Amino acid sequence: MRIAVCGAGASGIAAAISAARAGALVVLFEHTDSPGRKILITGNGKCNFTNHEINTSKYHSTDDHESFMSGFLSRWGCRECLDLFDSIGVVYRQKRDGYYPRSDTAESVRRALLNELARLKVEIRLNTDIRDIDPVKKRVNGENFDAVIIAMGSMVSGRAGSDGSGYGILRRMGLKVNKVYPALTPLTLKEDLSSITGVRCEAKLTLLDEEGCTVESSRGELQPFEKGFSGILAMDISGECCRILGSGRRAYVRADLYPEMDGEELLTFLKDRAERFGRQEPKDALVGMFPKKLINYLIHPLDTREADYVEALALRIKGLEYELSDEMLKDVKRAQTAAGGLSLDEIDDDLALKKYKDIYVVGELVDIDGVCGGYNLHFAWGSGYMAGRRAAKKERER
Ligand SMILES: Cc1cc2nc3c(=O)[nH]c(=O)nc-3n(C[C@H](O)[C@H](O)[C@H](O)COP(=O)(O)OP(=O)(O)OC[C@H]3O[C@@H](n4cnc5c(N)ncnc54)[C@H](O)[C@@H]3O)c2cc1C
Repeated sequence: MRIAVCGAGASGIAAAISAARAGALVVLFEHTDSPGRKILITGNGKCNFTNHEINTSKYHSTDDHESFMSGFLSRWGCRECLDLFDSIGVVYRQKRDGYYPRSDTAESVRRALLNELARLKVEIRLNTDIRDIDPVKKRVNGENFDAVIIAMGSMVSGRAGSDGSGYGILRRMGLKVNKVYPALTPLTLKEDLSSITGVRCEAKLTLLDEEGCTVESSRGELQPFEKGFSGILAMDISGECCRILGSGRRAYVRADLYPEMDGEELLTFLKDRAERFGRQEPKDALVGMFPKKLINYLIHPLDTREADYVEALALRIKGLEYELSDEMLKDVKRAQTAAGGLSLDEIDDDLALKKYKDIYVVGELVDIDGVCGGYNLHFAWGSGYMAGRRAAKKERER
């Protein structure tokens, strides 16, 4: 009754815990010299490990994922995730909708997980690179097991050990692996934004395809940098941007820098302000609405002597449009997760492969990616935990 878990990241550790709790002997393989390294860098070192507002709209996939994710979340919601953390002794607290350890350190999450692995006597084999998995014989690097859980993560965070080698292993098994892109990464534009680098502004970003149709949008604090936009709102739509660009199509992003008002309200507001504050210096009408650098950027291409200047300004504030650059597709270093991966067609509700008995694929290797806020770790813990439990139960049923 031995189960191999390949990869000691969030999903692999969760799988090892649930399988061992259900009575299996577990061997956890990891090719770096320490398990759970990536956990340490999550949430800026604080580990935002799940979210109260969890639902299917927080996740993307190349495949139709509504039914898969609603089934998954009905069995592994925020409550189940918090129960896991309770059971390993992590005291947590809620900040906005996200959950963090009360210690505010990701290290304490990793330590609690490793303590649980030790308590359950999970055998951890470090510095062991998985090169070969035989899914028919359930053999890992030539060693036989009763079930195998593949939890090798994506190509994001090479320094933490995630080098994308799992995709090759899945492909060699003859499984369908959807094209993989960086996600939760800054948006790279064709336009240079040096003049507004460093400003911060409440905004709404809308991703448009080449036909000008809205793909999705997000709202929050926009953080321009030389080559594009950063901030959670930009990262949240980045996976979809990469999916469009990666298919060889163009993609655009529209920035609404005053989402609190619709176009007409803003125009009335601006006309009033132009009258009251902008008579001598037209740009003074924007003082208090935007930082100085942004005011200059907004005003710069407009002729303030034109009769329809305020209309043009309102349009610019509500609809700055930029073409995205396919440089984004290479931005693995700054990405926090990957879009794409093992097609959902290949797995059942417990993350078991349909083609091969007793083989499971979990975590970031699966074509599910969440927005910022603890959703990716939530999927990693949950997919690992479910697969581990089912693999061990099957063992006991034999
Ligand atoms: C900077 C950053 C911040 C993040 N912050 C958050 C956050 O706050 N909240 C959130 O929900 N998500 C966050 N994420 C995303 C989250 O970390 C991942 O979704 C999650 O870690 C995925 O877990 P995983 O187990 O699938 O993969 P990984 O954590 O990548 O684990 C895979 C493991 O497999 C090992 N491995 C790979 N190949 C082999 C091989 N051939 N042989 C042996 N071992 C192998 C790797 O070394 C690694 O230990 C963040 C990501 C980054 C990069």
